[in-house]
Amino acid sequence: MARIVVISTGGTIASRWQGTGFAAEARGQEVMAIAAVPTGIEVEVVDLFSVNSPRLTTAHQLTLLRTVHEVLADPGVDGIVVTHGTDTLEETAFLLDLHHDDPRPVVLTGAQLPMEAQDGDGPGNLHDALVTAAGVRDLGVLVVFDGKVHAARGTVKTQTVAHDAFADQSASRVGDVGFGRVSVLRVPERPAALPLPELPDRAPRVDLVMHHTDGDPVLFEAALAAGAQGVVLVATGAGNATPAFVEAVATARERGVLVALTTRVPAGPVTEIYTQGGAVDLVAAGAVPTGTLRAGQARIAVLAALLAAPDAERRRQLLHAVLGAGSVAGAQPGN
Ligand code: ASP
Repeated sequence: MARIVVISTGGTIASRWQGTGFAAEARGQEVMAIAAVPTGIEVEVVDLFSVNSPRLTTAHQLTLLRTVHEVLADPGVDGIVVTHGTDTLEETAFLLDLHHDDPRPVVLTGAQLPMEAQDGDGPGNLHDALVTAAGVRDLGVLVVFDGKVHAARGTVKTQTVAHDAFADQSASRVGDVGFGRVSVLRVPERPAALPLPELPDRAPRVDLVMHHTDGDPVLFEAALAAGAQGVVLVATGAGNATPAFVEAVATARERGVLVALTTRVPAGPVTEIYTQGGAVDLVAAGAVPTGTLRAGQARIAVLAALLAAPDAERRRQLLHAVLGAGSVAGAQPGN
């Protein structure tokens, strides 16, 4: 028998009607009861919390990270499934992946329809996640949704309500799961894992600021004034903004604030092509380009670098290191 531990954190897969809308409420055993357990698998449930994922904090995510490591300290465990809200699943999955140094998989899943919906997607997704957790090795942290297996790195929520909710728009998926079996199509590239961070008294503040026509760095400067230790600039196109943003990035760097550069475009890498406020100048001023990582995961990369080291230069080195592995050249994106 494969021993799989299911860690329940809430989300729509655990949600019920609250009178005005749906919200996470069910505990782990109730969530587990919606799914058929595949033959040859025995399940243990860890009922960690039950919250809608937009309400998750860094403290929740670090508690989950620690729990995953504690569970994997038992050599008798064959894999982990984490049930999670879909809204911020990509952030938690990537944080776990950056610290994951174990051949056994951690598989995140959830649902677009609430737990008591007729023909809901939660039972199938949870079943497929269990099959995947018991069936693969050496693929890192994975996202299983709608019969597809995705690498944590690069995968984002691409659909607000459709069942096929996740994809990496710049790379292909890792595999498929169905009929009780997993087929692996590619092995994701992953950098060396970061050590498990201490639980800080107060998590470092990392803000996202998006550029747009007529944009100025007022919100970027407000982030610095609010004590941000990291800022992710969500730029236009291949990573472009304005000369005023270049100055703001240089100021941030002088103050030891880690700045990452991503784009609001759904697919493709940040690339240094343009000057006069473009990625050429933003990078020269100290922003670290995030390859094909989108905003939420770029923020997690910055957070992980901040948690891993106390000094600014080491943090920059670590950010470059965790960004080092990217999508596979030539892979078909978006599915
Ligand atoms: N609001 C939900 C969440 O917790 C959405 C979902 O789970 O699909 O993220």
